[in-house]
Amino acid sequence: MSSSPQRFEVLPRDLSAYRRGNVGVDHVHRFDSGRPGPHVLVNALTHGNEFCGMVAATDLLDRGVRPAIGTLTVSFANVAAYETFDPERPFESRMLVHNLNRIWSEAWLDGPEDSPELRRAREMREVVAAADHILDIHSTSQPVQPFWVYPAFERNGAATLAIGSPQVHLVMPQGLGSGTPLIQHGAHGTAGHHGVAVVVECGQHFQQATADLAKAVTHDFLAHFGLLPRAEPQPPRPPARRFQLLQTWVVKSPDFRFARPVIGFETFAAGELIATDGDEPIVAPCDDCTILMPARTPVVGREGVYLSRPMA
Ligand SMILES: [Zn+2]
Repeated sequence: MSSSPQRFEVLPRDLSAYRRGNVGVDHVHRFDSGRPGPHVLVNALTHGNEFCGMVAATDLLDRGVRPAIGTLTVSFANVAAYETFDPERPFESRMLVHNLNRIWSEAWLDGPEDSPELRRAREMREVVAAADHILDIHSTSQPVQPFWVYPAFERNGAATLAIGSPQVHLVMPQGLGSGTPLIQHGAHGTAGHHGVAVVVECGQHFQQATADLAKAVTHDFLAHFGLLPRAEPQPPRPPARRFQLLQTWVVKSPDFRFARPVIGFETFAAGELIATDGDEPIVAPCDDCTILMPARTPVVGREGVYLSRPMA
């Protein structure tokens, strides 16, 4: 029924050589320049089947990249899920039990439940909190253009606009609406904090171009904060396109379906039907309503689609 399986240009590699870190947490590596400067965290594999971040992180480690100033931490988050990858079911290894990108609230982290993801988040909690700036690297199930995702704090917009690429931004004034992502853990989720914390969605899972973009964005992010030299001057780019998240629709019914085939970035006129969730119509709340990350396979209790509108 769907177009998958896709071609796998990038496959998992054995990460056991990266397991032993140097901060007392598996798969976390930290390099202190010994000079003043920000502490930047580059995090991969928050979702286990999003290999582009793994490529960028192993690239930093394999090349022995060290920060000129401040501190660089490189982490692989959900290696347990990553290690379950099965090319026959390539989307299953996104997570084992919990979505590791929705459980970074105190309620979850200090709560009574247990799962591989909760254990990992609890292990990584201090690593995330210790960073000034965080780049959390992801990819998408559909072949759409790369984009940033971040809470609508001035600091996040300023940094990502200055970095320039990707040119598309999904800005979240009210957060995600379906849980607390890693980039909103603790102080990073508050207006008064200084730290930039953003997701970059680098393109479609398993594609070489996605991994290449992850490496480039990682370099640009570290260069922006002075940890690495800036790349060659870039040719002029078209202006940024920013979308404001209006609503995260969480699937309620096993009978969820889109009104037409979608992959993301389709636009709908005010009142136009986007999808039906059981008996409930999901209609565009405004003109130029732009949808992002439509679920490939809708699952009750998980995100079905994100509704946004272009920002002036
Ligand atoms: Zn992801």
